Amino acid sequence: MDEAREDGRLVREAREGFGPTHPAKLVDPPEELHPEVLAALSRLEIERLYSHQAEAIYSSWDGPTIVTTGTASGKSLCFNLPTLDVLCRDTKARALYLYPTKALAQDQARALATFGLTKRVRPAIYDGDTPREARADIRRRANVVLTNPDMLHVGILPNHPAWSELFANLAVVVVDEAHVYRGVFGSHVANVLRRLRRIAAAYGTTPRFLLTSATIANPLELAERLTGLEDVSLINVDGSPAPGRQIAIWNPPLTDEALGQRRSALAEAAELLARLVRDGARLICFMKSRKGVEVLHKLLVADLIDTDPELAKLVSPYRAGYTSQQRRDLEGRLVRGELRAVITTDALELGIDIGELDAAVVVTFPGTVASLRQMWGRAGRRGRGLAVYVAGEDALDQFFCRHPDDFLERPVEAAILDHESPEIFRQHLLCAAHEGPLSGQDAEFLGPRWEAHAEVLQSGGELRRRAGGVSSAVSGGARSTPSTYVPRESGGYPAAEVSLRSASPESFAIVDVASGELLGSTEAARAHSTVHEGAIYLHLGRSYEVRELDLERRRALVAPFDDDWYTQPKRETDTTIERLLDRRETLGVTLSFGEVAVIDTVLAYQRKRVADNAFLDLVGLDLPPTSFSTQALWFELGSSALGLGDTIPLEALLGALHAIEHAQIAVLPLIAMCDRWDIGGLSTNLHPQTGGATIFIYDGHPGGIGITRTAFARFEELCRDAHRLIAECPCASGCPSCVQSPKCGNLNEPLSKAGARLLLERMLGGTSTDASAEESGSRQARGNRSERDASLLKA
Ligand SMILES: [Zn+2]
Ligand SMILES: [Zn+2]
Repeated sequence: MDEAREDGRLVREAREGFGPTHPAKLVDPPEELHPEVLAALSRLEIERLYSHQAEAIYSSWDGPTIVTTGTASGKSLCFNLPTLDVLCRDTKARALYLYPTKALAQDQARALATFGLTKRVRPAIYDGDTPREARADIRRRANVVLTNPDMLHVGILPNHPAWSELFANLAVVVVDEAHVYRGVFGSHVANVLRRLRRIAAAYGTTPRFLLTSATIANPLELAERLTGLEDVSLINVDGSPAPGRQIAIWNPPLTDEALGQRRSALAEAAELLARLVRDGARLICFMKSRKGVEVLHKLLVADLIDTDPELAKLVSPYRAGYTSQQRRDLEGRLVRGELRAVITTDALELGIDIGELDAAVVVTFPGTVASLRQMWGRAGRRGRGLAVYVAGEDALDQFFCRHPDDFLERPVEAAILDHESPEIFRQHLLCAAHEGPLSGQDAEFLGPRWEAHAEVLQSGGELRRRAGGVSSAVSGGARSTPSTYVPRESGGYPAAEVSLRSASPESFAIVDVASGELLGSTEAARAHSTVHEGAIYLHLGRSYEVRELDLERRRALVAPFDDDWYTQPKRETDTTIERLLDRRETLGVTLSFGEVAVIDTVLAYQRKRVADNAFLDLVGLDLPPTSFSTQALWFELGSSALGLGDTIPLEALLGALHAIEHAQIAVLPLIAMCDRWDIGGLSTNLHPQTGGATIFIYDGHPGGIGITRTAFARFEELCRDAHRLIAECPCASGCPSCVQSPKCGNLNEPLSKAGARLLLERMLGGTSTDASAEESGSRQARGNRSERDASLLKA
């Protein structure tokens, strides 16, 4: 550590938590709890509760509640106790637990069983693996049904008459790990939960919603957007003992300053892990890709085997797809110290209960501060732990290394979703219509604008308006309404066509060519760029090579891939502004928000080596253009932003705009919880509709999910962050840590770091330094791309 401090690799050390001086805040369990629940607690030797657990119980008796306390703070008790209480009081009452993964549902079913209330509590998992013959019995008998949103959407809601016992007695709905429901998935789940409330109401129940989430910036907003309910209560004061945590931010040393090249994060991490293992620590290490996990494991073993061959056996990679038995074995071995280190993708972040370890090491930025904090939360065994972050070369990684204090104090991101994203909303409106005619009362569940969308579905031939006075299953037949909407064809099953993981119903299946197994699906709008022939496709941290993209049958045939390269598509993009929704003048530019059409043609792809990102070759493709509508912000740089009187050579201007666009996309995840892969951009010196230099940043999913809406509102922050990213990077003329983008459709051509800096400084009202102006000038002189190519620049 000392040498790392000296050579600057250890960018920042900090202490968090109050160590043993911050003891648990314990209170008695509420005595209003049912005696059998209290008895179960004492059987489990839980004499006292953490204060937040008791608060959550009281709050859940009052109304909808979300709990956002720390990683190992006993959040499950917060919803299990009130649920068990209800089930003990009312033998007919039912509860529904929603988990994002099957593994988590299994863990929770086990946790419920430990209460031993077998006469009162009959939990059952209902998911895709549940045998057909067991299903009827579960529907009839189980009073806690543990399932996932996908099954609720496609299996339970459309078949609500078969589930009438559940819906007629539904007292509690638990939504655990709610922070997972963001972006496209969250926008879908928000609609599924509205459909759930609507069906429950049709059976005469108003279930109480209890949610938990990892720490995020906007837990109440998330809870309200997900459920459509108002007045949700927040429990966020953690009564569990906070472990003292030593935090270390580690940046591999520069090997070439001008190019911005650093020593590989993997090599650096392997050394660090070996040292910790030798010191006797039990630790967990997180990486984004499975390939990375394998490489790091090899490096670590190689390091240990020289000096301590016995220790080399005590480190293991964790693979996705373990059964719950295998996971429990692994947990047990870690807890008993029979394993020293587990290296994993974030598959483990969700769904394993390993308690706390001595150290948690995160290699390269996991995408959000919220998930980094969650991973770090694993460190804290016996009241203290070491939390390490080893930075990679990406823009955000290096941004954080230059601002470690900002980073540590930075509030975690806001989880964003938009249940009214038109594509997504209309899919669920159609599902809802199949579950029961849509009527005026549905505004309570589906929102005040549902009818406008229903009219669109009607003109598309999917819904039919029916004259008023009709009784229906859902309205209970009690009231008549002016008119209702029903499906045009009653026999359909629209839910089967809607995937909760994709914004648009048009999707491509991804099929393993050897086993015929369906691995997943990808939105049609993204298929050409993600699963074109020859593409290396990552699924659950595993690499596959696309053997064939079958446009006709909408599927990609893939095979497991073990070689050392990845692919990056080269594409041509155009945007057309379809509708202006909002506009303001700021920072000397005209900033707009609205709907755009994105027309995309994938022309070719590059193959690059994983180890050093070296270019291997460029392979041409012959694919037709695709287009989709989405939300975007765009800003027009008039003469004041570009500099009055300056005539900027076209090449330099294009490079500057392109670099600004990349930098803004790189830092956008700081204000909206998303991945840079969820965002697209385009910059041009002359957009036909705006008549001038314009930068577009758009939601990468059809319909949009609110990312650019947030960016529009916080545009000034976006520009400041982008400027810092560029101005502070030590490289000479742009590198992967500032203006280069790993997903640029133009393969990072042209880019002008200096020009971008100059323009951003003008916008932000600062003065540019002479040096950067000079550099900009020299780069302008070197610009040599053809006018024709450069006239429209795509990202
Ligand atoms: Zn740089
Ligand atoms: Zn680009």
